[in-house]
Amino acid sequence: MLREIREPLVCAKCADEVTSGAAGAVSMRDYGRLEAGFTARGLQVWCLRHDLNVVHVDFAEAKPEADFRCLERRVNYSDLR
Ligand SMILES: [Zn+2]
Repeated sequence: MLREIREPLVCAKCADEVTSGAAGAVSMRDYGRLEAGFTARGLQVWCLRHDLNVVHVDFAEAKPEADFRCLERRVNYSDLR
Protein backbone atom coordinates (compact mmCIF):
# COMPACT_ATOMS: atom_id res chain seq x y z
CA MET A 1 0.00 0.00 0.00
CA LEU A 2 1.06 3.55 -0.59
CA ARG A 3 0.50 6.27 2.01
CA GLU A 4 -3.17 7.25 2.01
CA ILE A 5 -3.38 8.95 5.41
CA ARG A 6 -5.61 12.02 5.27
CA GLU A 7 -5.76 12.87 8.94
CA PRO A 8 -2.89 11.60 11.07
CA LEU A 9 -3.70 10.35 14.56
CA VAL A 10 -2.05 12.39 17.28
CA CYS A 11 -1.90 12.19 21.05
CA ALA A 12 -3.81 15.12 22.57
CA LYS A 13 -1.03 15.80 25.10
CA CYS A 14 1.69 15.69 22.44
CA ALA A 15 -0.39 18.05 20.29
CA ASP A 16 -0.76 20.48 23.21
CA GLU A 17 3.00 20.43 23.81
CA VAL A 18 3.78 21.05 20.14
CA THR A 19 1.22 23.81 19.65
CA SER A 20 2.15 25.58 22.91
CA GLY A 21 5.86 25.46 22.03
CA ALA A 22 6.66 23.41 25.15
CA ALA A 23 8.12 20.69 22.91
CA GLY A 24 10.45 23.19 21.22
CA ALA A 25 10.71 23.83 17.50
CA VAL A 26 9.49 20.46 16.34
CA SER A 27 6.69 19.24 14.09
CA MET A 28 3.90 17.03 15.35
CA ARG A 29 5.12 14.36 12.98
CA ASP A 30 8.61 14.39 14.51
CA TYR A 31 7.40 14.71 18.12
CA GLY A 32 4.79 11.95 18.19
CA ARG A 33 5.88 8.53 19.36
CA LEU A 34 2.97 6.22 18.65
CA GLU A 35 2.64 2.47 18.79
CA ALA A 36 -0.23 0.62 17.13
CA GLY A 37 -1.41 -2.91 17.55
CA PHE A 38 -4.29 -5.31 17.66
CA THR A 39 -6.17 -5.91 20.90
CA ALA A 40 -8.90 -8.32 21.96
CA ARG A 41 -11.51 -5.77 20.75
CA GLY A 42 -9.82 -4.24 17.76
CA LEU A 43 -6.92 -1.89 17.19
CA GLN A 44 -5.28 0.51 19.60
CA VAL A 45 -2.93 3.43 19.09
CA TRP A 46 -0.83 4.26 22.14
CA CYS A 47 1.36 7.26 22.94
CA LEU A 48 4.74 5.99 24.11
CA ARG A 49 5.79 9.47 25.22
CA HIS A 50 2.89 9.88 27.65
CA ASP A 51 2.00 6.22 28.13
CA LEU A 52 -1.61 7.03 27.22
CA ASN A 53 -4.33 5.76 24.92
CA VAL A 54 -4.74 7.77 21.71
CA VAL A 55 -7.59 5.73 20.27
CA HIS A 56 -8.99 2.25 20.61
CA VAL A 57 -11.07 1.19 17.63
CA ASP A 58 -13.61 -1.49 18.53
CA PHE A 59 -14.21 -3.81 15.59
CA ALA A 60 -17.43 -4.99 17.28
CA GLU A 61 -16.51 -8.56 16.36
CA ALA A 62 -16.38 -7.66 12.66
CA LYS A 63 -13.35 -8.73 10.67
CA PRO A 64 -12.53 -5.71 8.52
CA GLU A 65 -10.31 -6.25 5.52
CA ALA A 66 -6.68 -5.35 6.17
CA ASP A 67 -3.86 -4.90 3.69
CA PHE A 68 -0.37 -5.66 4.97
CA ARG A 69 1.43 -5.39 1.66
CA CYS A 70 4.57 -3.26 1.80
CA LEU A 71 4.53 -1.84 -1.67
CA GLU A 72 7.09 0.77 -2.61
CA ARG A 73 7.00 3.26 -5.43
CA ARG A 74 9.08 2.04 -8.31
CA VAL A 75 12.12 4.27 -8.91
CA ASN A 76 13.41 4.68 -12.41
CA TYR A 77 17.13 5.16 -11.79
CA SER A 78 17.75 6.48 -15.26
CA ASP A 79 15.64 9.54 -14.27
CA LEU A 80 18.05 10.34 -11.41
CA ARG A 81 21.09 10.93 -13.63
ZN1 LIG B 1 1.65 11.92 23.85
